[in-house]
Amino acid sequence: MNKLSILFAGLLVALFSTGHLTAQPPAPITLVKAGRLLDPRTGNVLSPAAVVIESGKIKEVGPPAAVQAKAPADAKIIDLGTATLLPGLIDSHTHLLLDVIVPPEAEITRRQNGMFVPGLLLAITMSPTERVLLGGHLAREDLESGFTTVRNLGHSGIDGDVALRNAINAGRVSGPRILASGRKLTALGSYIQNLNPALAEPIVQQEFLEITSPDAARQAVRTNLFYNVDLIKIAIDDDITQAEATAIVDEAHRQHLKVAVHAFTPTSIQMAIDAGADSIEHGNGVTDEQLKVMRDKGIFLDLTPTFYGGRFTRILEGEIVMSPAMRSEQASSSERGRKRYDSLVQRVLKSGVKFALGSDMCWFYPGKTRGQATANVFSAVHETSMPPLDIIRAITTNAAELLGWQDKVGAIEPGKFADLVAVTGDPIADISELERVRFVMKDGQVVRNDLASH
Ligand SMILES: [Zn+2]
Repeated sequence: MNKLSILFAGLLVALFSTGHLTAQPPAPITLVKAGRLLDPRTGNVLSPAAVVIESGKIKEVGPPAAVQAKAPADAKIIDLGTATLLPGLIDSHTHLLLDVIVPPEAEITRRQNGMFVPGLLLAITMSPTERVLLGGHLAREDLESGFTTVRNLGHSGIDGDVALRNAINAGRVSGPRILASGRKLTALGSYIQNLNPALAEPIVQQEFLEITSPDAARQAVRTNLFYNVDLIKIAIDDDITQAEATAIVDEAHRQHLKVAVHAFTPTSIQMAIDAGADSIEHGNGVTDEQLKVMRDKGIFLDLTPTFYGGRFTRILEGEIVMSPAMRSEQASSSERGRKRYDSLVQRVLKSGVKFALGSDMCWFYPGKTRGQATANVFSAVHETSMPPLDIIRAITTNAAELLGWQDKVGAIEPGKFADLVAVTGDPIADISELERVRFVMKDGQVVRNDLASH
């Protein structure tokens, strides 16, 4: 053998042995057992239940005796005792990079949109690095409360939600799967007015893409696409044209992105419907006729009863001193809001329109983590007399369809991501159980398990 042949033979041995050493062991298998498993789609309960998980995906679901026989003897077993298993929860409308602290009453009353704008401006002037780290913190709190998937609809700086999504997907940060919309498309002046003209443009551009014409609207979609967003969010407030709205939806659909439209008034809701939007966010002013058209076209209504039943007053009480006048104005406006929302929910249920539920949480809520503040929306919508099974569908199967992720999340079925939560009681009998999630698994990894003593 010459020197070269020896070297070559040596190389072959090295390659062969390296290959041998790095051969992949079979993927670890986990078996999760629980007293009950609720299927939101049918409302059926499997009792007792077991789920086999392999490589972060659900492989098998069924009674423990049948399923266990198919799992290997060395499978890792997680026994949740008598708990009820559900699919991981989905918040289809949130703002993880915004945590508005309500300013004092004098600031609120002397400024246009004084509840929200001071906090928004502070967020815009934060360093993007600091802001995305805030998002990382709130994302972890959301996940710990059982939200394994969220749709983040703006207020993230230029690309903060995309960066956070990527860091979570890479396993560098703990948080839910995120569908990120990047910047909101909106008309100038929709959110902030009376800025210093010398500074206005760079301030607004940190948070919004301005709609000035149909062509500019298409360009705004492409700009968001450059930052690799998952969907497009528009805010319509009777201040853009039909041609602009239609151009946005057309351009987004051409790029295979769904469009979520913030709309409250019947006029702006109609514009979103005519533009061919995929979902109406909030939609408080929707008419019965519009609900019917939305049902026929398959447009989702994403309900956000965030402040129902005096919930905003609770935030205010925790943060500021209110004058008697402000207190009584809050009480009467929350009572008016309660009546309108009760009727909205009844009309939605009757109409047969597809609906999901979003927290729209962007507020600092004293005494609650972001996840706990977000989960508060379940009891809010229940107080409107929405039945628990409808609520659970709105945050699992329905939300998955709204996201276009019905093949990935929202149900405990073979092939879906192993995103599971468990509660100790029966969420159909008491929906507030969902505010006390005891076990969270995302991608087959345990995030939280307060039931570990079983
Ligand atoms: Zn929102």
